[in-house]
Amino acid sequence: MTTPASNAIRIDPATGQKRFATRAAKSSDRIVGKGYSVLTEASLTTLPELPPGAVFNAEEQAKYRAFKEARRGAADYMAMEGEFARYLDDVYSAPPVPREVLVDECEIVVVGAGLAGLLLWHKLQGAGFTDVRFCEKGGDVGGTWYWNRYPGIACDVEAYSYLPLLEEMEYIPSMKFASGFEILEYCQRMAERFGFYERCLFHTTVLETVWDEATGRWTVITDRGDRMRARFVILANGILTSPKLARIEGMSTFRGDSFHTSRWDYRIDLSGKVVGIIGTGATAVQVIPEIARIVKELYVFQRTPSSIDVRDQRATTEEEYKSWPNEPAWARARRARFAKISNGRTAIQANDDYLAGKVPDFKERKQHDRALSMEELIEKQLDSNFRIMEQIRARVDAIVQDPKTAAALKPYYPWGCKRPTFHDEFLPTFNLPHVHLVDTAPRGVQRINEKGVVHDGVEYALDVLIYATGFEWMATSTFNMIRGRQGRTLKEKWETEGTKTFLGLHSAGFPNLFIVSGPQGGGGSFNFTDAIDAHADYIVWMLETLRSRGARVVDVRPEPELEYAEHCRQADVATAPLRDCLSYYNGHGEAEPGSLAYYGGNRWHKWRREAQETLAPYLFVYGE
Ligand SMILES: Cc1cc2nc3c(=O)[nH]c(=O)nc-3n(C[C@H](O)[C@H](O)[C@H](O)COP(=O)(O)OP(=O)(O)OC[C@H]3O[C@@H](n4cnc5c(N)ncnc54)[C@H](O)[C@@H]3O)c2cc1C
Repeated sequence: MTTPASNAIRIDPATGQKRFATRAAKSSDRIVGKGYSVLTEASLTTLPELPPGAVFNAEEQAKYRAFKEARRGAADYMAMEGEFARYLDDVYSAPPVPREVLVDECEIVVVGAGLAGLLLWHKLQGAGFTDVRFCEKGGDVGGTWYWNRYPGIACDVEAYSYLPLLEEMEYIPSMKFASGFEILEYCQRMAERFGFYERCLFHTTVLETVWDEATGRWTVITDRGDRMRARFVILANGILTSPKLARIEGMSTFRGDSFHTSRWDYRIDLSGKVVGIIGTGATAVQVIPEIARIVKELYVFQRTPSSIDVRDQRATTEEEYKSWPNEPAWARARRARFAKISNGRTAIQANDDYLAGKVPDFKERKQHDRALSMEELIEKQLDSNFRIMEQIRARVDAIVQDPKTAAALKPYYPWGCKRPTFHDEFLPTFNLPHVHLVDTAPRGVQRINEKGVVHDGVEYALDVLIYATGFEWMATSTFNMIRGRQGRTLKEKWETEGTKTFLGLHSAGFPNLFIVSGPQGGGGSFNFTDAIDAHADYIVWMLETLRSRGARVVDVRPEPELEYAEHCRQADVATAPLRDCLSYYNGHGEAEPGSLAYYGGNRWHKWRREAQETLAPYLFVYGE
């Protein structure tokens, strides 16, 4: 059912604000595979014993280095433009709801309707900011969980800590590692409950956002022809939003069906087909066991193996369903305990007794005779990472029967250096006679022709080719659409001066603009919604500060911004040995230190608290 253009926008008589009905209808309900299965075989849900003599010595380090250097320069990606732009089509929703073009004004425009957009709306509304409008490229809410609907998709952080506002929503996820489909439905429930839908313009992509000094307003320009003026703009457009393709000769000649995992095309039935998948990162690891159940032959083209850790999925127990609603703030407490775990693997393994508050700490604290220096701490961390990786490698040998396939599936880099993955069915999939690993190390697939993939002189004829080639990290491509003072874009500023922000949330010269979970934006644990939560709280605090002081514009001073950027650089350099491999985390070895994710841990909160107490980093402008 389509909404006529005239009904898509109405005026709320109580406030005079516009309300929208632009949520697109679903184009299909067809999905395959629901996420991680619950398995009971201990051989699949536990890591093997540590092989004897596992020490990260010079020899092992040299092996890691060789593994890394062999792949240097192999990561050649391209944006989905021109003939590849079709890979970005929204395959999940009916065509956009027709509506009038908006040339008007509101107080706040937020870009993005993922978990950050939803959480921001809840908090902004709570603080009395109601003249808020959201622009979302997709046809519905969910962001990551809207776009990624591939078979097997699931949350890798336990859902009880990942999903925000569980108490307010009176909701308990059905599985510890909830499927992406359950998360998408949860986002939709949130949107319905909090009146989000009528604040959001779906199928509306922000193309440009231009600051006007004279009026102290942003003009937000969209692909629907809108020119909306707003006092504040909040970028909640995600960190892994722009899918990318590996640049491979002959891609456009392939005659079969093809798509990217972030636009899973369920119109293409994979049953009984010969399917190829390029990439073995976090997405592919979840996809492969699911599609192996239905395809005739599956060819997995791997350049670099992922670390496949245990998942040990479980369903929420009857006892939890009964007891949690009686514990006030049960999910908040759990999420706070999760955030205290500073070791990624320990956090993601998510010990239930600790997270439920049944034991005071997640492990016996190691007592050192003296405080360790940063270098010593890193050395210890590298050693324990090595031991875990030895167990992960031993797991491959224990499960995968063909020695050549097993050898190719073993990763040689520090744990967590590339996005760690978790699965109990991925490795056994390679024992199935119709599943073939094609090891394309170290350069990756180099050629595609009209029939399929060609590697090492062998042609792999395919009916369907799936690109599991990931995303741009930290959405850098979107920063060229923000034009601040003197008409300069954020991208131009960062390209000439290096990435410079204050707390990752502000950048000098871009007043009244807030960036959620962008470069240098700390405040989170291994749970992304933690950073989103901290950033949303900060933004609401800043808007309240402006309101109570009668200020209309806020920018940051260049000196504190410079100091903060330098702090980010140093934190990155100090912890860099833990990321001594090539991955999207470090721009495949090309990123300037401090220009992407924040590595200062809890120190972000110290910087934030000091700024909030003194207000010294900010420049306020008063009066209309
Ligand atoms: C496959 C996958 C699995 C993940 N699993 C986990 C996990 O287990 N644990 C975890 O902590 N994190 C995970 N993440 C990270 C995840 O992105 C965050 O947890 C979180 O969902 C981010 O929410 P967000 O609202 O900030 O961004 P997003 O969910 O990315 O939403 C941003 C929205 O902005 C929209 N947008 C972008 N640009 C524009 C524009 N110009 N105009 C209009 N709209 C725009 C996009 O369409 C998108 O809907 C995963 C990411 C991916 C891709």
